[in-house]
Amino acid sequence: MRSICAARLLSLLPLALLLPACQGDDAASQSTEGTGGATGAGDPAKPDRTGGTNAPAVERDIVSTGLVLDLTARRGRAEIRLARGSAPTRFEIGDLRIEAVSTTDGEPLDFETPEAGVLEVKAPASATTLVIDYLFSKHGRFDGWDATPGFTFLWPYFCSNLFPCHSGPADGTKFTLEVAGVPAGKTAIYPEAIPAAAPSYQIGLTVGDYTYERLGDTAAGTEIGVYYAPGGRDAALAGAAQLPGYFGFFEETLGQYLFGPKAASVSVDWGPGDFGGLEHHPLWHIDDGQMGDANTHAHEAAHGWFGGGVRIACWEDFVLSEGTVTYLAARAIEAVEGATAGEAQWALYHEDLKGMVAGGEDTAAWLPDTCNEIRIADHPIWSLVIYYKGAFFLRAVEAEVGREALDRVLGAFYRKHGGAKAARMQDLLDAIEAETGFDTADLSATWLLGTGLPKGF
Ligand SMILES: [Zn+2]
Repeated sequence: MRSICAARLLSLLPLALLLPACQGDDAASQSTEGTGGATGAGDPAKPDRTGGTNAPAVERDIVSTGLVLDLTARRGRAEIRLARGSAPTRFEIGDLRIEAVSTTDGEPLDFETPEAGVLEVKAPASATTLVIDYLFSKHGRFDGWDATPGFTFLWPYFCSNLFPCHSGPADGTKFTLEVAGVPAGKTAIYPEAIPAAAPSYQIGLTVGDYTYERLGDTAAGTEIGVYYAPGGRDAALAGAAQLPGYFGFFEETLGQYLFGPKAASVSVDWGPGDFGGLEHHPLWHIDDGQMGDANTHAHEAAHGWFGGGVRIACWEDFVLSEGTVTYLAARAIEAVEGATAGEAQWALYHEDLKGMVAGGEDTAAWLPDTCNEIRIADHPIWSLVIYYKGAFFLRAVEAEVGREALDRVLGAFYRKHGGAKAARMQDLLDAIEAETGFDTADLSATWLLGTGLPKGF
C-alpha cells in the first residue's frame, strides 16, 4: 500500500496513528454494526484480525475469488476456486457471518469455525470451487466496508471483514466482482475483474457521485482515466495530467500490464487529512485531498507492476513493493516531464527522508530473515522511511550498473513474478547480481538493512 501511499510525511501520520488503534479493539468498541440473525459463524462478536503471526495455516491456495456483494443487505456470495490439494481448507473470515457453504452444484458442505475469525470447510479434494454465502458488517476504521461515505479498505489483512480470504500477500487470487444495493443516485466504482493473481487487498470499491474522464491511451492500448467527485475536477485533471505517460513508461520499461484494458485513479473521501492512495488496480484509490499530486498518481500506478503484479512473499519484504514503486514513480516523472521534474521529485524524497530520520522515525529496516512474523500495520517497518530508502537504494544501484541494466533486471523480474509466484527482496538482489555481476551487499547494508543515513546525505 501505501495503504497509504501519501507523497509526504505529514500525510502518513494520521493513518499511521489510526490503523494501530483499530487492531486491538473488539467488535463492541468499534463503529461496526452486526448484521444480526445469522448463525454458523461461531462468535462474530470477537473477530480475529488475522494476518501476520495469527494467520491460519493455508492448506490450499486460492486461485480465484468471484464476489457478489449487496451493499444494502450487506450480503455476500464468494465463489472461491482452490488449487488442488487435500481437505479441509481454511479461510480468514474476520467478523463475517457464514450462512452456508456449498459446491457449485448446490451440494451443502460441512463447515465449522474452530476459532473466531476462521472458517474451516470439509471440502473433498475433488471440490475445487466452494460457494460461501455470508453477511458482512459495516466498519469505520479502515478495516472493511465503510458505508459512510462508502468505500472498502482492506489493506493489509482486512479482506476477511468483506469476504473469506487468505490475507497473506503470497497467496494471489484473481477476482471477479458484482455489486448490488448501491444507494440511489450513487455510482459504485469497481473492477468487474482482476484477471491476474493479486494480493487479497487489491480488490476495492467506492461509492459516490462520480464523473469519469478519459485521459488517453497508452501505446500498448490501455485506456487511462480518472474518476472524480463533484468539485474535484480541477485537482484530478491537474494531478493526473501525465498519468497516461507514466503508465506507458511502466508498460514499456517493465512489461505488459496484467490487470485489464482500462486503468484509472479514483478519488475517494477518506475523511480529514491527506492520506495518499491505495493500489486497487486497475481502479486504484487516491484520497480526495491528494488528487492534485502527480507523484501520488505515479506511485499508485506503479503498484500495478510492483506490489500488485509482483506480490511480496512476506510483509517483511515491504520495501520490495514500496521502495521499488517510489523509485519507479520518480523515473516515470523524469521520463515524461523531463530531467528537471525528475530531480525535483528526488529532492522531495530527500527532504522528507532527512526530516524523518532527524525526527527519530528511522527505527526499522528490511527484515530478510523472517517471513510473516510481523503484523505490518503495527510494525515500524510500515514507514515512509522504508519507501524512500528503498528508492535511494535502487538509485544507487542504477548509478553503479547503469540505467539500462537496472531496467532490464526490473523488467525481467516483473515478467517472471508478475501474477505468478510471489517474491522476496533478496530475490531482486540476486537478480541484480546475476544479470549485472554487481554485488549489492554494501549498498544493501547502507540503505536496506540498518538505520541512519550515509554520511553527507
Ligand atoms: Zn505504495
